[in-house]
Amino acid sequence: MADKRDYYEVLGVGRDVSDEELKKVYRQLARKYHPDLHPDDPTAEEKFKEITEAYEVLSNPEKRQVYDQYGHEGLESGGMGPGTGGFSDVSEILESLFGGMGGMFGGGGRVNAANAPRQGRDLQTNVTLDFMEAVNGKSIDLTVQRMENCPDCRGSGSAGGAAADVCPNCQGRGTVKATQRTPFGMISSSKPCPHCGGKGKVIKNPCQKCRGVGRIRVTKNIPVNIPAGIDDGQQLRVSGQGDVGLNGGPNGDLYVGVSVRPHPLYTRDGFDIHCDIPITYAQAVLGDEIVVPTVDGNVKYRIAEGTQTGTVFRLKGKGIKRLQRSDRGDQYVRVYIEVPKGLNKKQKELIQQLEASLEAKNYAKRESFFSKLKDLFGKAGDDNK
Ligand SMILES: [Zn+2]
Ligand SMILES: [Zn+2]
Repeated sequence: MADKRDYYEVLGVGRDVSDEELKKVYRQLARKYHPDLHPDDPTAEEKFKEITEAYEVLSNPEKRQVYDQYGHEGLESGGMGPGTGGFSDVSEILESLFGGMGGMFGGGGRVNAANAPRQGRDLQTNVTLDFMEAVNGKSIDLTVQRMENCPDCRGSGSAGGAAADVCPNCQGRGTVKATQRTPFGMISSSKPCPHCGGKGKVIKNPCQKCRGVGRIRVTKNIPVNIPAGIDDGQQLRVSGQGDVGLNGGPNGDLYVGVSVRPHPLYTRDGFDIHCDIPITYAQAVLGDEIVVPTVDGNVKYRIAEGTQTGTVFRLKGKGIKRLQRSDRGDQYVRVYIEVPKGLNKKQKELIQQLEASLEAKNYAKRESFFSKLKDLFGKAGDDNK
């Protein structure tokens, strides 16, 4: 008994664990390690037995008290070893977790599952759109491979769609009796019939096309309407377009991940569009009508005389349509002055003449800046003007 692990350690709980918490932890572990879920892993069964034994003792107030005081040995010498008398709700818990269990390790849960309706698998695909396609929405045909009921046998798996035969091994029950040694003694239980996989039916003459599976993989074109306003990184769910359901269960869904290519002029922020437009020095000084591209086409916009570089104006409602709503975001346009380069001598002289003719009042910001500078450093700012 010396090599037995501490029950609290086995369940990963503290020594002051409440009954309620204990039950919760056991449910989680049982769900994780139940041997039926790990048919190929013998360590899962060992682990499952270990946690079940630990829970069986700790959930029993009498045994827990003995264990707390005297450890494993106390239980053994007191005739209170695991599986002996006393109340335990292990079966009840496993029943609620796995449903319809014939016995502790009977694996009865699978018997029901074999014929239970199950939803088909979800499918995932991706689509890449241009910026404007995302703005305006697009109808596309997506090519996906999915499982559908075999047309030859209409999903039955039997040649010509004939009815399946009753399994001779289990006489259609789907289960067979099995006796197993468990920590609680010998337990007779039912387990899924290995001959029919728990279905209770066998196919004598399998369909050629699907080799008795009842489903085949097909390539399918699925029309999908991408709604206007979809953004990069979003995902659409196309209901019922995944794999066909099993035993009359619903179909899976098709998920479409959306990528959007960047636009040469626009950047997107939610449903707003941002765009930078260069203007000339003269346009900024004198004002002008400029052409602004929008997702609805070009519009004219009057910029005022004396527009500063970096000024942002808003075109209300010129952004992107909001999903599932009728209104739209806005477009923000930032103008900036492109300083001309490579001027010839004549042009430079003209600029110098212009500059010489301007007075402090024409440069309000500069005026304000240097007066503040003067306040801070006395006459130092004078050198700049
Ligand atoms: Zn078939
Ligand atoms: Zn059978």
